[in-house]
Amino acid sequence: MNFDDIQAVKKLLSEPQKILIVPHKNPDGDAIGSTLALWHYLRNRGQEATVIVPNDYPKFLKWMSGNEYILNFERENTQAKSKIDAATLIFTLDFNHLGRVAQMEEPLRKSTVPFVMIDHHQEPSDYATVMYSDPSMSSTCEMVYNFIEYLGDTQAITPEMASCLYTGIMTDTGSFKYASTTAQTHRVAAQLIEKGAESSEIHHRVFDTNTPGRLHLLGTALNNMVILEDYKTAYITLSQEELDAHTYQKGDTEGFVNYGLTLEGIIFAAIFIENRDEGIIKISFRSVGDFSVNEFARNHFGGGGHNNAAGGKSDRSLQETAAYFKSLLADYSEKLI
Ligand code: 5GP
Ligand code: MN
Repeated sequence: MNFDDIQAVKKLLSEPQKILIVPHKNPDGDAIGSTLALWHYLRNRGQEATVIVPNDYPKFLKWMSGNEYILNFERENTQAKSKIDAATLIFTLDFNHLGRVAQMEEPLRKSTVPFVMIDHHQEPSDYATVMYSDPSMSSTCEMVYNFIEYLGDTQAITPEMASCLYTGIMTDTGSFKYASTTAQTHRVAAQLIEKGAESSEIHHRVFDTNTPGRLHLLGTALNNMVILEDYKTAYITLSQEELDAHTYQKGDTEGFVNYGLTLEGIIFAAIFIENRDEGIIKISFRSVGDFSVNEFARNHFGGGGHNNAAGGKSDRSLQETAAYFKSLLADYSEKLI
């Protein structure tokens, strides 16, 4: 964050505001962790603040402090809309363009109040008055820590905030494994542990929450995996029928896509998940090394993300989507070596 932006935020926060904090649709650990940490921080400073999520999120994220005060735009629509109308300042966290909040896009676009973006996705669009965008960051949670540091306030980080921030750093780095994890990421995590984040307990709460249904669904996903050695690619499909057969709950497929990359020699992995309600196939892409799944998702599946983790969607059927995906690979053969 540059000096002018820090001053601008300090000025905004020196007056009483009605603040909205908004993460992307289908919020993940980084989205919920960063918004709740910022919510605690602003409220502890005496500001009125509300987190509004575009839609629901997995149960393994619902233990974080402040969770019960989050408004769900889909479920608590009237209340959420009136909060948006009344807002005097809006923070958008963990996404780079307003299309990522789906149904919330329209009311947010209508708002004329200042926007502050804190985000680590590539190619941010310029809707925000203050833009703290840095794609080299491991996570938005690491950036919220920095943001609080820029405001000279790290002493204000409570154990609750530290746990929220630790959660997002942990989930977005694949437990400190992905290439986005820097020495500074570890330094921030260490600070958070010192400030009261219980790392072992957080790992347990997020990752040790399997149900028999989820493990069996993982079995189906692994059985469905197609390995294309020539393209160093592996992909998984899951139909709505298969999800239903395993009493699918939101979040159950989290992390499945990564299994492809655990195969020796595979550098590109994808998962295609049918969502009959929305009439789409939701896609996740992962890579190791230089192959940019952000570019791939942008070019072919109306999505984006980061170099090594991105998402998108398709309006075709599951089979057609997989066939289309396969047909694209020949054009990337030089990059998939
Ligand atoms: P995931 O595959 O875990 O849903 O998402 C991986 C990364 O890609 C995340 O940073 C997420 O924000 C981003 N992402 C996922 N789906 C989409 C999408 O449909 N559009 C864009 N622009 N980014 C996405
Ligand atoms: Mn993130």
